[in-house]
Amino acid sequence: MKKIGIIGGGQLGMMLCEAAHELGFSTVILDPNKKCSSAYVAESIIESNFDDINGYRKLAEKCDIITYEFENVPYHLVKQIMIEGANVPQTEQPLYITQHRLREKNAVTQSGLKTVPFATIKSIQDLLHFFQEHNTCILKTCFGGYDGKGQWLIKSETDIFALSQLFQNNPIEFIAEKKINLKQEISCIVHRNNKGKIVCQPIAENVHKNGILFHSTIPATIDIPLKQKAEKIATQLMLHLNFIGTLAVEMFIDNENEIFINELAPRPHNSGHHTIEACEGGQFINHILSITNQDLIVPTLKDTAFMLNIIGDEYQTKQHLFQKGFYHDYFKDIKPNRKMAHITFLGSHPISILD
Ligand code: ADP
Ligand code: MG
Repeated sequence: MKKIGIIGGGQLGMMLCEAAHELGFSTVILDPNKKCSSAYVAESIIESNFDDINGYRKLAEKCDIITYEFENVPYHLVKQIMIEGANVPQTEQPLYITQHRLREKNAVTQSGLKTVPFATIKSIQDLLHFFQEHNTCILKTCFGGYDGKGQWLIKSETDIFALSQLFQNNPIEFIAEKKINLKQEISCIVHRNNKGKIVCQPIAENVHKNGILFHSTIPATIDIPLKQKAEKIATQLMLHLNFIGTLAVEMFIDNENEIFINELAPRPHNSGHHTIEACEGGQFINHILSITNQDLIVPTLKDTAFMLNIIGDEYQTKQHLFQKGFYHDYFKDIKPNRKMAHITFLGSHPISILD
């Protein structure tokens, strides 16, 4: 039996372990927290900080194949263990690109695809200039932001001056993006193995609340040409970037039905959690198949699906819903804005659940 090592022990790591076990692999997690979500399902855990090369070396010693469940893994440490002989089929390259918003945007535009207008911001003057050109915009840290964290909405020059301390003696890198009117947000998750085979998960339509994914509906309510365009974009990116494994592509659709690439994630994605129950060839199974270079399963949707995230104290207030669908608990302590669990509902009327 082969062993898969997973860097990161959050809920994505947990669901990757479950898929790996289903496919006959054993699992080892690397995470600083021995009570992380994955610890409850992985066969063993290496308790180590993500910036400590020794943890990576221990993982490499124990495992045949290594993958990651979040993009902020220090890419140079992954590269180091590869030099020392570890088998990381995805390589460190997807981390290098997607953990930094500017590198990511450049990779998208170099692939011939569209992002919203953006600029590097190094000073208040840069931000003022961008705001004068584009009006309402969002300032984002290049590194480390997630679930809407590390972002500031700029609606006026007063908002800009209120942020002046951010730029004082600060090595943080930022970009600004024009805030566009979103008609819809969608995502397409693609997988690719080393034989060059690519498959796409069904397109999800995503609704965010305070920058955090609130719920996803699958399939997305978009017409067939737009669906085909979104699949083509995700496939084109995977090919152009030459990634192996999984790539989640978050996209914006504006009122003219124009698609803009928002973000990339080189791992399974929250908007693909429904695939566990709703799809033949779900995102976690296909991720494991792709990194072990096996034949991929073409994802087919068995039923329409609705995925609801349980965030912060909804873990207490929404308990009445837990038994109504496929409930996945992440075994975490409650914190505001923390993803605690999710529920997947199959069938065509689930949105009424929210009432
Ligand atoms: P995160 O890394 O936190 O997911 P995102 O850049 O994806 O950051 O932003 C989170 C959410 O904020 C998006 O899904 C979208 O709803 C909203 N948002 C982000 N950037 C823009 C933008 N340029 N225009 C309109 N809405 C945006
Ligand atoms: Mg996002």
